[in-house]
Amino acid sequence: MEKRDFMYEGKAKRMFTTDDPAYCIVEYKDSLTAFNALKKDSIEGKGQLNNLISSALFEYLASKGVETHFVRRLDDVRQLVRKVSIVPIEVVVRNITTGSLCKRLGVEENRALARPLLELYLKDDALGDPIITEDHALLFGWSTEEQLAKIKDVSLTVNTLLTDYFAHLGIILVDFKLEFGVDGTGKLLLADEISPDTCRFWDAETKKKLDKDRFRKDLGDVLGAYREIWRRVSEGSK
Ligand code: ADP
Ligand code: UDP
Repeated sequence: MEKRDFMYEGKAKRMFTTDDPAYCIVEYKDSLTAFNALKKDSIEGKGQLNNLISSALFEYLASKGVETHFVRRLDDVRQLVRKVSIVPIEVVVRNITTGSLCKRLGVEENRALARPLLELYLKDDALGDPIITEDHALLFGWSTEEQLAKIKDVSLTVNTLLTDYFAHLGIILVDFKLEFGVDGTGKLLLADEISPDTCRFWDAETKKKLDKDRFRKDLGDVLGAYREIWRRVSEGSK
């Protein structure tokens, strides 16, 4: 598939069209942002690690029957994906309390939740991705009722699958963000990326943070943490 025109540059990836309008190419960048891009940096090799990790996780989810945009990894930093129209909702699933949840509601950090907590955020950088309810999503037309039901169902299935997958690698899946999109045939697909930029991973024994929190909180060795996730994911898929 030929890479054609530049489509979009976001904070962590660039998108390109291909000669087939049903597909596009995602290029993972080394740039890292946090707090709605108020904190920025670039770490050489981060894009490659996220591409490798995200590709492996999409392949794993597909093997378990989850329909995703992922087609194949093209090289170190690029994937071929099905082009979708992104549903402007970020779905966050949480297993342990931390991050914005604790700040917003004043609940204690690091509490294991009795069941997964699913939250919806409006994907709008200018508004700082505000949290929304299902009613907002439906009444303002950000998703249909049918899409929302599927988005919730698939997000919880992904949580079950990935929690189990990472448990086998000695990693706790604390929380993560998913995005969905609709392809040219009207099918809802899991899209975007699943990586240490979009998930919180803790080492099961030491509770060491192995994700973007190392960057958010200036904990150091961000790349080492991403490498450790890739080492375990690649060992685990052998
Ligand atoms: P952001 O826009 O949040 O800064 P990125 O740097 O990750 O994000 O850019 C990738 C953009 O491409 C995001 O807006 C994401 O929603 C969108 N996207 C992800 N997968 C697809 C896809 N398969 N088709 C079209 N757009 C996609
Ligand atoms: N997340 C993300 N993109 C966002 C917001 C959150 O990938 O724009 C992920 C984040 O990495 C974490 C989970 O969603 O795994 C929950 O994040 P939280 O709401 O706690 O936000 P933060 O602490 O990043 O402000």
